[in-house]
Amino acid sequence: MKISKPEISQQNDNFLYQVNVSFSDGTKPLWYSVSSQFRDLISDRADAPLVALLIPAMARGEAIHVEGVISEKLYYNLSGLYQRILQSIIPSLHLIDIYPSEVQSSSQKALGVATGFSAGIDSFSALADHHYNKDVPAGFQLTHLLYNNVGSHAGGGEILFKKRYEALKPLVDERIGLPFVAVNSNVQSFYKGFSFQQTHTPRNASVALLLQNGIGRYLYASAYTYTDTFIGKTDSNAYSDLITLPLLSTESLEAFSVGSEYTRVQKTLQVAEIEDSYQALDVCVRGDHESGNCSVCWKCMRTQLTLDIAGILDRYTNVFDLEAYQRQRSAYIVRTLQDKNVFSQEIISFAAVREFEFPPVLKLQADFPPLQYFVKKISRY
Ligand SMILES: [Zn+2]
Repeated sequence: MKISKPEISQQNDNFLYQVNVSFSDGTKPLWYSVSSQFRDLISDRADAPLVALLIPAMARGEAIHVEGVISEKLYYNLSGLYQRILQSIIPSLHLIDIYPSEVQSSSQKALGVATGFSAGIDSFSALADHHYNKDVPAGFQLTHLLYNNVGSHAGGGEILFKKRYEALKPLVDERIGLPFVAVNSNVQSFYKGFSFQQTHTPRNASVALLLQNGIGRYLYASAYTYTDTFIGKTDSNAYSDLITLPLLSTESLEAFSVGSEYTRVQKTLQVAEIEDSYQALDVCVRGDHESGNCSVCWKCMRTQLTLDIAGILDRYTNVFDLEAYQRQRSAYIVRTLQDKNVFSQEIISFAAVREFEFPPVLKLQADFPPLQYFVKKISRY
């Protein structure tokens, strides 16, 4: 694989950062587009495309030749350590060599502090600690929020990315009051055959590296606690974020995971103290919604049940359809009681702590699954 020297050009109201990628599938550009007002954030180094294209190159077993400057620390980590971890997560990947035309240690560290913002529990929790909490040291206080199109918008692609960004922008502008940087990209087109869940960390980190001229700290909201962290074959690369993000750092950009000290339940309760979340919390896992929650998918149900147990679900009447929740509640409680997943176990422990009694008939159904069939039959009459 050959990555050409980055070219940065203005296109209407945006700055386009682009490299040409020649590999076994042919030649095509990899590009990132950022609003002109954030031009100062964009680095002309080739760190971003190298991180974005490492997994696609490892999948093909192709060495990478990069024209342009690569940061020394990143080059060191990507050449060996990080590839070993990726291979543990996705065993089909091959170890490859990287040949940059120039390796330089970057001397300047930018002052910006950024995190991605999707209005979910993890990102609101990161805001709770690094924006609403005024006691956090200045160097860890957020200065920018990022909204990336690197694959999380599934089939909706660029159109859904823009719609979701526009839906969140009023909240960020009027309530949160931080610059909201939308970064569009075609990174996703290089990841055919890989799920977003398994590869989101390097894709998002590549955007932070693109912006390392102005961003010196990149906080990546964690999905898991310290005790859940492991390196090994899994369908989610988030389990190893605590270890991998520092490896995706440079002398200029310090990338790290935040929020692993909290369980999912603790984060949900933390977010429920942020008034801005009452109008905007968006936890929905469904890829086809433009904004807002479907209220019945597993993530919507999990969040609502946690808030329900805490007795504060009524704070979220504007973002959830509570009638739809009530219709699914019994069936979801049964599934939660049966589920061995760490998040379901947390909810069961939380209910016990709060002395929240699940209805005995649901406990019985959870213990004796055949009963569910009869309960469903009886409830029809
Ligand atoms: Zn949903």
